[in-house]
Amino acid sequence: MRVFVDDDSCRGHGVCAAVCPSVFVITDGGYAEAVEDDISPELESSVREAVDGCPERAIHVKEENHVN
Ligand code: SF4
Repeated sequence: MRVFVDDDSCRGHGVCAAVCPSVFVITDGGYAEAVEDDISPELESSVREAVDGCPERAIHVKEENHVN
């Protein structure tokens, strides 16, 4: 799974950083950034929680099939 924050939609509420701090941080500019964009399987559920919790629907994920 890959994740990115749409800068145009993000309003800096910080829900994502509260729910999943290992992936989302609030930058000095006051908006969220995904510091990890290639999400490990252990983090996927909290990333999904952040996606659902974002009031602006600013977090987007792209599902990928990992071939191990
Ligand atoms: S919850 Fe959504 S709007 Fe709020 S900081 Fe995170 S990405 Fe931005």
